[in-house]
Amino acid sequence: MRTPAELDSVDALVLPGGESTTMSRLLQVFDLEMPLRQRLAAGMPTLSTCAGLILMSREVLDGRPDQIAFGILDVSVRRNGYGRQIESFEADVAVSLLGAAPFRAVFIRAPLIEHAGPDAQVIASYGSNPVAVAQGPHLGLCFHPEMTDDSRLHRLFLERAAAALEVSAA
Ligand code: GLN
Repeated sequence: MRTPAELDSVDALVLPGGESTTMSRLLQVFDLEMPLRQRLAAGMPTLSTCAGLILMSREVLDGRPDQIAFGILDVSVRRNGYGRQIESFEADVAVSLLGAAPFRAVFIRAPLIEHAGPDAQVIASYGSNPVAVAQGPHLGLCFHPEMTDDSRLHRLFLERAAAALEVSAA
């Protein structure tokens, strides 16, 4: 998704991992910031992971002062809060909305959720910090669900997005 016209053509959006400062800059360069803000304000469902979660947050700590925080997810995140690239790691986390089997979470220079406000439902934690939140039609993850074969979080997102959009996920 690189143009406002492409944004118009989708019902829901995945904001993937990457580099949140670069993604902020590119959203501005491609004239996507304002159209995306409008879609988010209109309730477009999102799945945001890692850098995408940073973009969706209410507050970004250790970010660039000019980087975008759309303020949709009621969380305060610290960029690279789990350490540098070599401190990337995997862990099994329990996700409350997914049933008993844990989810293998891959953290790559992940943001640390320092605080989740009342609007964000914490659905998984690692240690004492949230690592996954649900908020209305939005899911926000500190880790990379696409790095495993486990599609349960993507499915959960589609189900919640479909419910929000009142269409069938089938
Ligand atoms: N550290 C990156 C950032 O600040 C996020 C890393 C990732 O998306 N895996 O944007």
